Amino acid sequence: MTRPKAPNITRAGSEPQGSGFSKVFDFLREQLLDGSIRNGDRLLPERELALQLGVSRPIVREALRALSMMGVVEIRERVGTVVCRPDVSVLGDVFAFSLAQVPDAIDDVMQARIALECQAIRLACQRATTADIERMRDALDSIEATVDDATHGGLADFDFHLALVRASKSDTLIQLYGAMATLLTRSHRDRRQLVGDHHDEAMKRTVVEDHRHLLQAVIDGDEDAADQALRQHFRIGDDLRRQKALAPSRPAAAPARARKTKETTQ
Ligand SMILES: [Zn+2]
Repeated sequence: MTRPKAPNITRAGSEPQGSGFSKVFDFLREQLLDGSIRNGDRLLPERELALQLGVSRPIVREALRALSMMGVVEIRERVGTVVCRPDVSVLGDVFAFSLAQVPDAIDDVMQARIALECQAIRLACQRATTADIERMRDALDSIEATVDDATHGGLADFDFHLALVRASKSDTLIQLYGAMATLLTRSHRDRRQLVGDHHDEAMKRTVVEDHRHLLQAVIDGDEDAADQALRQHFRIGDDLRRQKALAPSRPAAAPARARKTKETTQ
């Protein structure tokens, strides 16, 4: 067990930090960030933590319970409080709760997705392994095979982009992408339900070709081409959103329908 250093959370000149919870939380975060404690380490007993932090034991206990619900620690009977690495699904839940009441949250998440994927594809150009390429190729085959099927097509599309982000080998990008997955999946599903099945051959070809270009750029290791192809892939959704914002209640005109459908398969 790593014994924590004396806490250094009372900052001279600053306002006293509010609740006992934030004292415990700040303490734990700083210890984790500077590497004093790691996954699997046992924390000091409640009594000693309370003394060190200058808060009561019930407050320490309450804070540790809250932290355990976040998956940051695990309270084990007869063992004590053990530091954990939270599962990324916790982050997804937090995203979903925090964004559930934000207007246009899905559009906002899309902006984050664009930022994240554009960096991911650049890294993928440098780091993708044969296995990553195979995963993307499999997903591309599925996109092609399910282009007439909204539900499976959406899943295949999601798999392709997930494989792309995984190929970045950036743990943080992968985790953030996973956290957004719930909202992204919902957005795909809702839009697909709105649009329904389509029979636009040109649009179907574009969907497949877009992904083929992305894969080829990664295989070629051409970061600029990859970035450009990805932005182009996302831009169609932006155009549609703009049209929708300008005429929210007007039914989609015929030429826009293909683009709308395409958006669901980003
Ligand atoms: Zn796509």
